[in-house]
Amino acid sequence: MSHKVVLIPGDGIGPEVAHAARRILDAAAAPLEWIERHAGIAALQRGFKDVLPQETVDEVEQCGVALKGPCTTPVGGGFSSVNVAMRKRLNLYGAVRPVRSLAGVPTRFEGVDLVVVRENTEGLYAGIENEITRGVVTSLKVATEEACTRIAHFAFRYAVARGRKRVTVFHKANIMKLSDGLMLRCSKTVHDNWYPQIVYDELIIDAACMRLVQDPTRFDVIMMENLYGDVISDLCAGLVGGLGVVPGANIGEHTSVFEAVHGSAPDIAGKGLANPLAIVMSSVMMLNHLAETRGDEACKKAANKVRDAYNRALLDGCKTRDLGGELGTDQFADEIIARF
Ligand code: ATP
Repeated sequence: MSHKVVLIPGDGIGPEVAHAARRILDAAAAPLEWIERHAGIAALQRGFKDVLPQETVDEVEQCGVALKGPCTTPVGGGFSSVNVAMRKRLNLYGAVRPVRSLAGVPTRFEGVDLVVVRENTEGLYAGIENEITRGVVTSLKVATEEACTRIAHFAFRYAVARGRKRVTVFHKANIMKLSDGLMLRCSKTVHDNWYPQIVYDELIIDAACMRLVQDPTRFDVIMMENLYGDVISDLCAGLVGGLGVVPGANIGEHTSVFEAVHGSAPDIAGKGLANPLAIVMSSVMMLNHLAETRGDEACKKAANKVRDAYNRALLDGCKTRDLGGELGTDQFADEIIARF
């Protein structure tokens, strides 16, 4: 059995890290059939009119699974985020970002093992903005009972499935009384009615940030709306070694897209310096997802093989520059493959 998977290299460092991940998965004999499609600046360069071509969306929908490199989002103008558009068009409502200390990557804390669950479709991050009149803009924060309830079920289901003990909701409901208030109400209702075995608590986001940087080891699953999730994900990445080591999954009812938390890092693009580990870790999540949803043991085996190999490579001191080492993207990928 082999699984069709769409590979979207993206732009910036995307193609470098995505192709390194593909090479590693192929060398691990992961039972995958790759279909390459494009998004972002890479799509425009190939003559598409849209940064998110319909054929890319259709292919992901058909295959149900994609591995995606980052796509650049211009700051303060230009086209809207491809990443946001993809999550919306494919209804990938739940983002999961496991943040773990890695042996061989020394940081301020040891034993960090938390998971950021981010609502992916609403909130301020949806980018619904208007210039009402010259010099006055508004940005709409949308929260619906449906999406808040859906992400709460998602977070608690995840906690139960992975043997996690606690779900903490980050919020600012003291100020955003209606929108974040709705998120809290829905989360509590879902907890009380369906998942009483999991500990539920709530934390105001500013205090949560302080506690995260004081002692991240006390957190388990943390759940929040879209924009908070974006910011907190990078903060958490900083606790375990940076953006090069945190993977992610965007999950919908029928479709899932796996991608690193980091962006397209234009400052190092095309130089062969990027750390491919975050997308490699994302591809391990993808293999585990395929194993769970399609019952394919070969995917599980390949996932374990890749994870064991990158852990050993790190322990042996193989590192890219962001982690204080000297290796380039392809050299680090070679070191992983050498440990199969
Ligand atoms: P976005 O808005 O798309 O999330 P961003 O502005 O948050 O992007 P990133 O592209 O994620 O920025 O990265 C910020 C910086 O972190 C980069 O400029 C780069 O120096 C570093 N960085 C990010 N990812 C990696 C990586 N995989 N390997 C090495 N360095 C990285």
